Amino acid sequence: MKITFREMRETGATRIIVFCKDYRCSHNIQMDAAKWPDEMRLSDLEPRFICTVCGKRGSIIRSVDAPPKMGTG
Ligand SMILES: [Zn+2]
Repeated sequence: MKITFREMRETGATRIIVFCKDYRCSHNIQMDAAKWPDEMRLSDLEPRFICTVCGKRGSIIRSVDAPPKMGTG
């Protein structure tokens, strides 16, 4: 997934979810994406995280979809 934070924000998403790279650990955390610059790719950030549970470096990052707008029409 080679999208930038700008592209992610254009979809309406404001948060990311960071998964531990080790699928056996599968620790994950949601974070507000506002602190990262528009031109940064989500994939650029993946190697920077260190899991707080198992201590391994590396992560898998996905955007958290904006909640659908509800309406009664
Ligand atoms: Zn982990």
